Formats: sequence, structure tokens, C-alpha cells
Amino acid sequence: MEKHNFSAGPCILPHEVFLEASQSILNFNDSGLSILEISHRSKDFVDVMEEARNLALELLGLEGKGYKALFLQGGASMEFLMVAYNLLEKKAAYLNTGTWSDKAIKEAKLFGDVIEVASSKEANFSYIPKGYTVPEDVDYFHCTSNNTIFGTQMKSFPATDVPVVCDMSSDIFSRQMDFSTFDLIYAGAQKNMGPAGTTLVVVKEDILGKVSRKIPSMMDYKIHIGKGSMFNTPAVFPVYVSMLTLRWLKEKGGIEAIEKENEKKATLVYSEVDLNPLFKGFAANEDRSMMNATFTLENGDLKETFDEMWKEAGIVGLNGHRSVGGYRASMYNALSMESVGTLVDVMSELERKA
Ligand SMILES: *Cc1c(COP(=O)(O)O)cnc(C)c1O
Repeated sequence: MEKHNFSAGPCILPHEVFLEASQSILNFNDSGLSILEISHRSKDFVDVMEEARNLALELLGLEGKGYKALFLQGGASMEFLMVAYNLLEKKAAYLNTGTWSDKAIKEAKLFGDVIEVASSKEANFSYIPKGYTVPEDVDYFHCTSNNTIFGTQMKSFPATDVPVVCDMSSDIFSRQMDFSTFDLIYAGAQKNMGPAGTTLVVVKEDILGKVSRKIPSMMDYKIHIGKGSMFNTPAVFPVYVSMLTLRWLKEKGGIEAIEKENEKKATLVYSEVDLNPLFKGFAANEDRSMMNATFTLENGDLKETFDEMWKEAGIVGLNGHRSVGGYRASMYNALSMESVGTLVDVMSELERKA
């Protein structure tokens, strides 16, 4: 039976990518070798790494603008501390919009003063704070563009002269923005780009080299840039699959094209959440995420019936995170409109039954 994968991450990737990746496990580029056994210094893999780095910059519209793309290990969680290691001299400003921002703040505090410019913690992160100001004397401002757990998404970013760092783990390559307003973007691959095991970092080179502390090599963005993202053995297979996904996205027409599909998918789910009296949205309407829709049942007695119905329809990964409860429909780039349609059908079927 066809599955409809609404998992928050690791998550669905394009079927075409799985086909090509599985072929390459057996015989990569007609070399007679598996992608899993080739040297990361072989020309075949160096080409993969270069293509992945170039595609990332190209799709974000950042080519020739002083940015470098890296594929590192350690997850987005490693970037929480690497950002501070490389950029925090005295003080940094953080916007607290959820569990992941909270963790980023915790790591940054190991390196200097952290000013929390605003937080929505008191309302279980159900909205994005607005109307705050970013102090002018901080080393950088850090924010999280999409809050995977709570289902909120920043629709605008503060205008500031300090470098802007953004954790885009769960909405990178999903919507068009002027990415040149950011100085450092990072994203764990496993939400919208590839399998777990690599993290994309896109950094404007001229913000680096300004802190006075010594930085261990593996933590130093400049070292990774100098080595072409090959300072040590990179995550060969995750980088390869990410490259295939970025190729797929480019062939589909890039971010602008996928954004239109993502809007349609999100509109379909949220309309059902709003119109169906059995359901209630979790996130504030104006901050609703296009990637992760969070909602709950008004009447908990229907939980068992609903859970049985969506599982029967082939839907997987719909349970909400424990800190929100209810349900979370993650609709990353590769999720089809048909899968979203299946979910919405099940939700309206529940209304007819109840
Ligand atoms: C999943 C996620 C993380 C953590 O990513 P890891 O790669 O597991 O470290 C960080 N930030 C956001 C927004 C996420 O969705």
C-alpha cells in the first residue's frame, strides 16, 4: 500500500532520488564501485561535493555574492555552538521561538553574553514575537525561520545592520526570500534536503575571522572553507543524496516553483483545520508554518477513531511532538498534493462519522 509520509524529520524525499541513490549504491557513475566504497578524494566524489555546494548557492540566489557553502557533520545542533565559537566575541542577540532556539541560546551562553530580544515561551511558543529591536552593539542576531515542533514560521525578519544568522533546518529551499539578507544560514539535511548525517552551512566569508579566541580546526568555518568542505572525510552518501535532491529541485524550477506547491498544500490542510469543527489549529494564524501544520482534536474521545482512520489510509508520522500534543502534518518539498488530499479526506470523513 502507498504510504503518505508526514514525518517531521528525517522525512520524505523525492522517489526519483531514492531510485537514483539506490542505483549508485550498486554501481556509481558506471565505475563498477558503490558510492559507499569510493574514496572521498576520488574525482567522482569531489565532483559531487562541488556540484552540491554550487547548487545550494545557485538555488538560494547567492552565487558570486561572497558566500561559501559547506556540508558539515554534527547536525544543526553542532551549528548552535559553531556559530558562537566563530562569531561571538562579547554579546549576541537571540530570538527565542521554540525548542531549537532555546538550545541554540544555551550553547551560545558558553561563549559570551546572550540577549534574548523576545520569547514566546510563556505561550508554549505558539506565536512569533514581533516588535522587538535588535541592539546595534551585538556581534550578531540569531533566529529560527521555521519552528518544526510548534508549527510557526517567521514571515518577516528584522532590519538590522548586525550580521544575521538563521537556523533554516526545516524550511530551507521551501520558499523564496532574499537570502542575501542573511550572513550565515544553516540547516540539517534531514528536513528538506537529504538523509540525516550532513548539515548545510552557507556563510558570507567576510563575517569570519573577527573573534579573538582560538578555534579548534573542526569548529573553524575558515578551515572548512579552505579545504573545500573536505577537511576530513565528509558524509559521502548524505552529501550525494542531498546533491540529487538539489538537482531534482532545480529541474522542477527551483524554490519559486516549489513554493507555489507548498502554498497549495498548506492552504488545503489549514482550510480543513479551520472549517472542520472537530479540529483546532495550534499556532497563531498569521505565523502558521507552510512546512509543519500543528493541530489538535477538540474532543479527545475521537482520538482512537481518528488515529485508526489515518493509519488505515496509509498515513504515517502524523503524531504531534510531545511538547504540543495532537497532530503535526509535515509537508516538505517532496510530499505530494495527493498525500495532503488523503489526509484532508480522512479529516472530513471523521466529521461525517462523528
Ligand atoms: C531538527 C532541527 C534541529 C536539530 O537538528 P539536528 O540535525 O538533529 O541537530 C535544529 N533546528 C531546527 C529548526 C530543527 O528542525
